[in-house]
Amino acid sequence: MGIATVNPATGETLKTFEPLTPSEIEAKLALADATFKQYRKTSMVQRSQWLKQAADILDKDSQKWGELMTLEMGKPIKGAIAEAKKCALVCRYYAENAPEFLKDTPVSTDASRSFIRYQPLGIILAVMPWNFPFWQVFRFAAPALMAGNVGILKHASNVPQCALAIETILKSAGFPEGAFQTLLITANQVEAVINDDRVKAATLTGSEYAGASLASAAGKHIKKTVLELGGSDPFIVLESADLEAAATTAVTARMLNNGQSCIAAKRFILVDAIADRFEQLLAEKFQTLKVGDPQSEDTDIGPLATASIRQEIEQQVQETVTKGAKIVIGGQSYRDRPGNFYPPTILKDIPMDSPGYSDEFFGPVALLFRVKDIDEAIELANSTIFGLGASGWTHDATEQERLIEEIESGCVFINGMVKSDPRLPFGGIKRSGYGRELSSQGIQEFVNVKTVWIK
Ligand code: NAP
Repeated sequence: MGIATVNPATGETLKTFEPLTPSEIEAKLALADATFKQYRKTSMVQRSQWLKQAADILDKDSQKWGELMTLEMGKPIKGAIAEAKKCALVCRYYAENAPEFLKDTPVSTDASRSFIRYQPLGIILAVMPWNFPFWQVFRFAAPALMAGNVGILKHASNVPQCALAIETILKSAGFPEGAFQTLLITANQVEAVINDDRVKAATLTGSEYAGASLASAAGKHIKKTVLELGGSDPFIVLESADLEAAATTAVTARMLNNGQSCIAAKRFILVDAIADRFEQLLAEKFQTLKVGDPQSEDTDIGPLATASIRQEIEQQVQETVTKGAKIVIGGQSYRDRPGNFYPPTILKDIPMDSPGYSDEFFGPVALLFRVKDIDEAIELANSTIFGLGASGWTHDATEQERLIEEIESGCVFINGMVKSDPRLPFGGIKRSGYGRELSSQGIQEFVNVKTVWIK
């Protein structure tokens, strides 16, 4: 696919972009490299001021940024505006906390004085997906820039205008020309960029395939990577759960962003005692969701971001049903409706040999599983290649502790949905990736942790 803005609600191509030529890429890398040499010497106070100005721009024009996101990838406008505001939050968070996270840390040893100093690495490449087109980028850029690194962005090919807008926001905030640049390039131009000596490390949020491809290219040059990949998060409901609260949260946890979130609840694991009631509540709530124009304030579910994503979810559902799963609601694509809309869907009785059991479903489809007890729930939750997040619903303290201790994932939320928060580290294990973003752990991924020992 070329680099283009295609309205997912209508299928209309609105704007196309030519990928950068090798000499244009070279000019951007040279600028980034030259900028880094100066930028690393700027003070934390100065970087904080620029980042706070970026936050103000994000807040002030959140409607405009929201409309752009919705135009390019179809998320409902309410969520898009909230995303712009969350980006402001992460900018303020790092503007305020980075100086503390990166200050020299004294350590007592046999030296007269020894300490740890955190220094920037240089140019960091960020390869980002379209699903949270602003958030994914700002959660990388805010800590990277505070640490004194410079960033280059290869954004997903369907959100080029978001990519360019982010560069403009950071420049308007005062960051030097070259501190953060968007490279409009295709996926197969990425390897040449990571091969370049001036690029020191890379982070990728996206599919396993893209992550493995970038990490192997980076590995050849001994360059560090952080990978935030797919997930098939369990949402476990046990007998003592508040079912009404769990079902209400389940709707948001599954449907946020039209179901296209890595940390969406995808597999609903229900103990027998409450399974029928939970299924009924979830179906009732799904049926009230309004599918429609994503630019409209009262829309809950917009179109999927691209035609191929809609095709994929359609195929996954069909194959799972052919293998024996039952449709509770939805499951049929809209006929004669332009755009990439897919209805809210619930499947149950999912066979082990079907995609519903093993694959990530990136769309508005909830997969229901019944289990006898917490032992079976944990076993099923862990029977996936992924390990991003998990949500567990129980008021029993022993059960809560078992979920926290035994679920294989980068985070566990009890009686709440999995969400990212600048104050908490975010990332996965298993094939969901490695490394962490956000919090103090996130800013320390792309720094030289330098040991200093003085006698
Ligand atoms: P994708 O195809 O992997 O795309 C993500 C980015 O990688 C895009 O910029 C894409 O560019 C680029 N890319 C694709 N193939 C590449 C390659 N071989 N080498 C280098 N770059 C490459 O991901 P997607 O399917 O659009 O996004 C959905 C996936 O992302 C899901 O699995 C989801 O769970 C995951 N995700 C994870 C997180 C997290 O934080 N863990 C967050 C959001 C999404 P083009 O657009 O030009 O192909």
